[in-house]
Amino acid sequence: MKPTVIPHAAYQHFVMEQLHARYGRAILFVNADWPLVLKCWQTDLSGVTTQLRTTYSNRGPEPRDPASMLRSYLVYLFTNPEKGLTEWVNIMQRTPIYAILSGFSPDDIPGLGTFYDFFRRLWPVADKNIKPNKQPKKKKKQKPKNKKGEKAPMKPGKVQRLVTWVLRSIDVHVELPGDRLFHFFETNILSVSKELGLLGDADHLSIAGDGTPLVTQAYRRSKATCDCRARGITGCNHHRYYSQPDCDPGWDSSRERYFNGYHLYMFTAADSPHDLPVYPRLQPASRHDAVSLVASSVEFQQRFTLGTTRRMILDAAHDAQAIYELLIHQEIEPFIDLNTRSKTNIETGSDIEISPEGIPICPKGTKMKPNGYDKARHRRKWRCPPDCGCSDAKYGRTYYTRTQDDPRLFPNTPRDSKAWELIYNTRTSSERTNKREKVDYHLESGRHQSTMMWYMRIYGIMICQHLDAWYVSQKEEWDLLKKDICPAAA
Ligand SMILES: [Zn+2]
Ligand SMILES: [Zn+2]
Repeated sequence: MKPTVIPHAAYQHFVMEQLHARYGRAILFVNADWPLVLKCWQTDLSGVTTQLRTTYSNRGPEPRDPASMLRSYLVYLFTNPEKGLTEWVNIMQRTPIYAILSGFSPDDIPGLGTFYDFFRRLWPVADKNIKPNKQPKKKKKQKPKNKKGEKAPMKPGKVQRLVTWVLRSIDVHVELPGDRLFHFFETNILSVSKELGLLGDADHLSIAGDGTPLVTQAYRRSKATCDCRARGITGCNHHRYYSQPDCDPGWDSSRERYFNGYHLYMFTAADSPHDLPVYPRLQPASRHDAVSLVASSVEFQQRFTLGTTRRMILDAAHDAQAIYELLIHQEIEPFIDLNTRSKTNIETGSDIEISPEGIPICPKGTKMKPNGYDKARHRRKWRCPPDCGCSDAKYGRTYYTRTQDDPRLFPNTPRDSKAWELIYNTRTSSERTNKREKVDYHLESGRHQSTMMWYMRIYGIMICQHLDAWYVSQKEEWDLLKKDICPAAA
């Protein structure tokens, strides 16, 4: 049978009834329980049932309520994220309040298989991984010689080729296995955060993008698919079976060690005081930030329907001419820190040179000063004061730069302006988002084998982050509900 869409009010009624039946009318929550109770009470998840109805057949027994399955998964992430899901089922048996808040009667808790059946429906393709398990044998990679905290260097040619290829087919919409999850997340979670004003200017988003290592195993595991070894043949070229085919080895620059897993590239609403995540993407661990950004930016612009993206705020690892080209094509203003390895000035064909930071240098070697923007002619004016001596002109030497000549060196918002500083400072929101997911919500404790389950966990944690923000921002209003749920609390 197809599941019945249970209105959220019916869930609330069920929770009240169960709590009273079990604990009497005078149940009292301890203060630490209230945030969880209120988040469940206030979050309508019935949209997931509506969305997944078509994935259930008309026949057979009535399935578990999908909204309750999802809610239970969130309660698990809120309360016991460092444990496994098998343990979560046991915890619900021991702690009836968690079962009740999920929407289950404590005498009738679903088993582990029911959870996996539910997750399967949020993942529209047969394979739980994106690449096949059987792959040609991978060569061992050389350890990069990076300094501590330094990311692997980017190959600019690679990013340029990728962007050129992407721009040729930028309107071609390729479906991704994570689309069902994003659709639910956008229509049921992001839309509420937008309504509550928690995404900043959601009609014209400012987005911070950054990648973080997601460790799944210490080493890549694989086994032979042939019996060559037993027959005494070594070094054959037969495929091997990889248990995590979408993962590969990468270098974790902050922990200074190799790991096997993913590179999680996250978009965060940069104007949001709550550092709210908006779009996750799993890439193989070896992938560079700049390459991940290209894929995420194209996919996000195709999928996000609640507004447009106005700005993209990225660290110096993304400083490549091709990234500017892509973002400007997408009508997004890039705010990217310069990665100035070069110390030499750039020649201009006149007697003025440009410093690696994009500042004109007069023939006497003085850094010129910004002197306003000429809107009509789309150019920025620079000057040297008369006392520099590089010019006989009454007000000193002038020079003009135009963004379209070099958007990297002469961005629309100048790098040394207050406006740039204020906007660029919001980039750290992406670091806080990643930290929250990994430290507070134990993202890496997932111990999953499949990309499908890793996406479930990431989206689950992202939903928890939004619910946390709803609670913090609406606390006074939500706290008034305590006396409806539990009259003795008032
Ligand atoms: Zn073989
Ligand atoms: Zn001068």
